[in-house]
Amino acid sequence: MKFMINYNILNKKVKLFMERSGSRPSRPYDYLNSLVWIAGRLIKDLLGRILILTGAHRRYFRGRGIIVAFHSVTAGPSNGALRCGVRDFETYCRFFARYLPVCTMTELVEHVQRGAVLMGQLAITFDDGYADNAELAAPVLARYHLPATFFVATAFIDSETQAAWDIKVGIRSRWMSRQQVKALHAAQHEIGSHTQNHCNLGMVPESVAVAEMAGSKADILAWIGQVPRHFAIPYGRDFPTLPRIAAIARELGFDTVTLCRGGLLAPASQAVVWERIPVSPNDYLSPYGWYYDVFKEINLNLRGS
Ligand SMILES: [Zn+2]
Repeated sequence: MKFMINYNILNKKVKLFMERSGSRPSRPYDYLNSLVWIAGRLIKDLLGRILILTGAHRRYFRGRGIIVAFHSVTAGPSNGALRCGVRDFETYCRFFARYLPVCTMTELVEHVQRGAVLMGQLAITFDDGYADNAELAAPVLARYHLPATFFVATAFIDSETQAAWDIKVGIRSRWMSRQQVKALHAAQHEIGSHTQNHCNLGMVPESVAVAEMAGSKADILAWIGQVPRHFAIPYGRDFPTLPRIAAIARELGFDTVTLCRGGLLAPASQAVVWERIPVSPNDYLSPYGWYYDVFKEINLNLRGS
């Protein structure tokens, strides 16, 4: 069996650990910190493997669903939750395809609306509309027969708009063309809305929020001939007027409104505001360790309810 350990990350951490222990013995905290990181990740990895390989995850995830969120998928290495290297992306897709029941956002909604018990289903989503989603991620998804939902900021499509978060780190934003959006839809993926201009809905007057939401819905309808059913809140965070925005989204015909703060779909989840889990491969040695952290969310959810 292939172990899928991200040796690059492990090597990097071990190298850092050696450097620190050799050149700066006066900083025992750094030394200890690297050691704790490595030990912690190895333990998580092991626990994730036990969870999957014994099949225990099926029992624990009964009544739960998982929505993962990606942003840009890059040819280079992963960097935080906003840029996942395509090699890491493939490792996670192989893991999803092998061990988890992957479905679309619409299938998740229909499952919940039917009142059926969730069985740990996982839905894959992408935010913003990066060109690399069509160029690098879509071929990997096709290879593993995985469906996904692409939440696009429709004014970014076919534009040279530079996102503030990319400018900050000196990266040029490249967005999909309409043709690429249409091709994803034709390949059975879902296209969701993410406003037109990646509008911060907690900061603008309601009239602007409505125009951004309705406008993106109309754009997508014009491009793919189908009304989008899912809406992802730009920046993925909660804000005081979120319940009002969610109500507007429902009036506009969206079945789901998703955030991106981590957390699972719990039994009581209404098909309105759902949480998603951003994936940062650099924080784990392999998807098993990541899955163990997702598993820990079950307990967090129970505590919250
Ligand atoms: Zn976004």
